[in-house]
Amino acid sequence: MPTYNHILVAVDLTEESGTVLEKATEIGSLCQAKLSLVHVLEPLGYAYGGDIPMDLTEVQKQLDQHARERLTELGARANISTENLHVSIGRPETEVHRIAEETKADLIVVGSHGRHGFGLLLGSTANGVLHGAKCDVLAVKFRE
Ligand code: AMP
Repeated sequence: MPTYNHILVAVDLTEESGTVLEKATEIGSLCQAKLSLVHVLEPLGYAYGGDIPMDLTEVQKQLDQHARERLTELGARANISTENLHVSIGRPETEVHRIAEETKADLIVVGSHGRHGFGLLLGSTANGVLHGAKCDVLAVKFRE
């Protein structure tokens, strides 16, 4: 089995994140690897196009805070310390790649629904993370 030093687990904070984290934890303990979590928030400006003049800074801060709390709960299940929890704003695949490179992760773990047709076995985010990643990527298949 290949060995890894630092596993970055990308979570969308749905219930399925627990399944992705469990798999990553199993691999992590076999390799004695460090584990980190990342969740990426969509910038609010994308959703509200800028047609309505609104200051969304406060709302973005609250979403960020909420994501950090959820990430902390999830991280506690795998004894991941707070400095290894990352909340970022942008496109999930871009941010996951950026944080993987910054933190020198050698394995990225994502979840995959595999419900996007026969030819495209990975979901859109999982697919995006796989393409352009500079390290190995493991897609954990969810049972439907
Ligand atoms: P999807 O392709 O949207 O079904 O998502 C599959 C997997 O991509 C999830 O299980 C996560 O591992 C990852 N993912 C999706 N959205 C995000 C997000 N906002 N932040 C971090 N990871 C994500």
